[in-house]
Amino acid sequence: MTWVVTQLCKDNVDTACVAECPVDCFYKPTGDDYSKMLYISPDECIDCGACEPACPWEAIFQDDSVPEVFSDDIELNAKCDEDRDNFETAENDPDTHKPSPEEVTANKEKHGYS
Ligand code: SF4
Ligand code: SF4
Repeated sequence: MTWVVTQLCKDNVDTACVAECPVDCFYKPTGDDYSKMLYISPDECIDCGACEPACPWEAIFQDDSVPEVFSDDIELNAKCDEDRDNFETAENDPDTHKPSPEEVTANKEKHGYS
């Protein structure tokens, strides 16, 4: 099992999840070939679940619980293993924006998930 970052992370890359990961398996794209969000390596994730409650945008799901609207994100996350030359390890940025509940809801609606 692995965990998956969904499109809800896009434009909201606050990296709050990164500090919780014991194996540093969050990656970010280095160029413009991939969406500007974080990616979890399915090869490296140890299925601990520590990142999920840390995500203020509720963007992280276990792979068997990814909402249908985000199903393509399972394969997308795996790109950080398959195309590692276009990714680098994500680092935690302590200047994180804490979204309001209204912002979290609006972001979900923007991506067709509510
Ligand atoms: S489930 Fe655990 S190992 Fe996997 S990405 Fe989240 S914090 Fe890292
Ligand atoms: S905490 Fe959530 S929204 Fe923030 S970078 Fe991590 S996955 Fe993306």
